[in-house]
Amino acid sequence: MPTRPDPLGTPLTPGATRALVLGAGEIGKEVAIELQRLGVEVIACDRYANAPAMQVAHRCHVVDMLDAVALRAVIDAERPQVVIPEIEAIATEVLIDVEAGGVTVVPTAHATRLTMDREALRRLAAEELGLPTSPYRFVDSLAALRSAVGELGTPCVVKPVMSSSGKGQSVVTTPADADAAWGYAMEGSRAAGVRAIVEGFVDFDYEITQLTVRHVGGTLFLDPIGHLQEDGDYRESWQPQAMSHEALAESRRIAGVVTAALGGWGVFGVEFFVRGDEVLFSEVSPRPHDTGLVTLVSQDLSECALHARAILGLPVHVRMLGPSASSAIVVKGTGVPTFHGVADAIALPDTDIRLFGKPRVEGRRRMGVTLARGVTVDAARSRAREAGAALTVHLT
Ligand code: AMP
Repeated sequence: MPTRPDPLGTPLTPGATRALVLGAGEIGKEVAIELQRLGVEVIACDRYANAPAMQVAHRCHVVDMLDAVALRAVIDAERPQVVIPEIEAIATEVLIDVEAGGVTVVPTAHATRLTMDREALRRLAAEELGLPTSPYRFVDSLAALRSAVGELGTPCVVKPVMSSSGKGQSVVTTPADADAAWGYAMEGSRAAGVRAIVEGFVDFDYEITQLTVRHVGGTLFLDPIGHLQEDGDYRESWQPQAMSHEALAESRRIAGVVTAALGGWGVFGVEFFVRGDEVLFSEVSPRPHDTGLVTLVSQDLSECALHARAILGLPVHVRMLGPSASSAIVVKGTGVPTFHGVADAIALPDTDIRLFGKPRVEGRRRMGVTLARGVTVDAARSRAREAGAALTVHLT
């Protein structure tokens, strides 16, 4: 059982409750704001300056979180009571070490280590917990990939075991694609020496994120979030996704089993593929999920507010505000953005926007999100899309 930091202190005094947020992106920013509201002293880390969460933190550090020595130095200097990983790419051996020294790692150091490795997570889910997943093989050479493609058949999906957000991921539609998929996986892998998972392609009706909150009073399942992905990155999400009673019950059963195995307190994003009443577990993030940004408008407490509360051992309850949607503002090009047409974008009631404040774009980057409620999910989705379409982004 995790421990509750009690009492909560006053920031910037010796009795402060200090939280170190590792990964200062848009989710980290919202988590930092929610912690700030509870008087927690927030320290944000990322590998570049002026990252979104750094702009709302008490202090920040620019550090490569895969560098164990540098990460350890920040933790030793800041002496946080709570460490909150908001990205996967972290030297998790440091987290295991500091947890052993009495620091709370959210949700647990073991969960952060296990979930950054697709192989460890898939073996836990499918082989230890017996949960339904797509068929899969692990490969560490082109020859092994070719034979895995032969066994699983095409189409199948190749992903480096150490990667996220679609990096290095591709679909093999004919056996001849294997060579290109292997090359792409090697480019996209976070670790030296590539290992990849090959998964049978699931022809799903829809995919969902089941946000699951483990907290002092038990486990809370939020309404299922449907989403659209492009190039491994989310473009639109909505809540609630309509599901059969059976599929909803099964996804919650699986989410309960997998989050209990990971342990600790906090929000988990459990991802599923759904085909009819059949539900396949895909993966889980032991932290708020990008598709869950829709909860900024769909619930009285967003996934980030719930995360902050759960982490601190505070009571957790939530109220849905109605069918809602989010649409990612993805900007392509190079430069510092200015956003034109924001007033038009949010002129309608129940329509909102978050601009993350990321300092610049190089290539393709999610820079904000439009949010909307509607009478139905479809109405909310078109409103969120229209809000996005009203924006023009200039890069200079
Ligand atoms: P992941 O990084 O594993 O979450 O994959 C990103 C996205 O790729 C998912 O949300 C799906 O849309 C798609 N995808 C991943 N694995 C599969 C699969 N085995 N079958 C079909 N689509 C997949």
